[in-house]
Amino acid sequence: MADRMLVEPDVDFINTVMRQGGEDLKKCYQCATCSVVCELSSTDGVFPRKEMVMAQWGMKDKLIADPNVWLCHQCNDCSKHCPRGARPGDVLAGIRSYVYENFGVPSFMGKLLGSPKALPGLLIGITAMFFILLYAIHGSSFGFDIQNLRDVGYAEFLPHIWAEGLFVTGNVIIFMFAAVGFLRFWGRMKESNGGQAPGMIGSIISVLPDVISHARFNQCGENKPRYIAHMLVLFGFVGAMITAGLAVFFTAFVPIVESPIAPFNPIKILGVSSGIALIVGTWIMISRRNSQTDAVGANGYSDKIFLYMISLVSVTGMLTFLIRLTNISVLGHVIYLIHLVFVFYLLWFMPYSKFAHMIYRLLGMAFAKGNSGSNGKAS
Ligand code: SF4
Ligand code: SF4
Repeated sequence: MADRMLVEPDVDFINTVMRQGGEDLKKCYQCATCSVVCELSSTDGVFPRKEMVMAQWGMKDKLIADPNVWLCHQCNDCSKHCPRGARPGDVLAGIRSYVYENFGVPSFMGKLLGSPKALPGLLIGITAMFFILLYAIHGSSFGFDIQNLRDVGYAEFLPHIWAEGLFVTGNVIIFMFAAVGFLRFWGRMKESNGGQAPGMIGSIISVLPDVISHARFNQCGENKPRYIAHMLVLFGFVGAMITAGLAVFFTAFVPIVESPIAPFNPIKILGVSSGIALIVGTWIMISRRNSQTDAVGANGYSDKIFLYMISLVSVTGMLTFLIRLTNISVLGHVIYLIHLVFVFYLLWFMPYSKFAHMIYRLLGMAFAKGNSGSNGKAS
């Protein structure tokens, strides 16, 4: 006789998954059509049907340590064919949201980031007030007078070295917090796998080509247009980070005389191209999410905030650059302040937001591949 297992549903987990896009979870009646259509399902696995029943039963501990959840790229082939409209692709996305909201430390930050009520307080109350305070300190220390600004020299408002110092030190601290969450996640997958885990570094290296090329996106039949948008956002983001890193390097170590109109500066060309890629990529994603929900999937709260934040960072960054060329001083400084608030909101709250999702996905894919030596199928 098979062993009996006592299931203790985690209601908070079920509610979070439903709030983050999996609201039709309970409609599933276990027909397994989704496992038939999913490219990731193998002959010895029943993905994502198994995950659907575990989610209905609130089996949080199993699901947050399940690397297969991270193999899914929400193509929604399964959701299209589900006879009950249970939308398994969106349920899996909700489970992933629960993971990055709960593994980061301190864990209450994940809950705050996942709550619409906390957005004005976190964004305006912390990030914006911080920069307004810095501006005030700088103004009183250096005799800064907004009435007498003659051109758009952003360093007059906030010295570049201050902004870049904050960028570097903030990133170091935030990445330390984030790393704790990533290691906890790897540890949970290992524990759930009977204490066995593949080598982390080797497994990560083995999946990097898949991640960079977004190979799985092209395997999904229902959602191919997402491929271009994701590539634009990925490479736009990498370009923006390289631009910021080079700017810090030149400001700190190789002081150069800067002209407000230096359009042929290669760092600026990289920054502007990255900004355009981000604006176009996020615009495609937002417009498809708003007009083609069936193909794209549900709009979980964290997804929406992340997309709008990336979009706002790109647009305000581009405006900051363009307004500088026109020399409309006060407007330029206001837009620059707004840009800084959005940039640092994204960075400071990275470990608990959809931003961290990229690293959790990389780890989940690496664990699945390293553990099974697999062909990319869910076990
Ligand atoms: S999610 Fe839909 S297709 Fe999959 S088992 Fe449930 S009812 Fe069937
Ligand atoms: S969304 Fe696509 S990859 Fe994910 S479970 Fe459904 S069919 Fe499979």
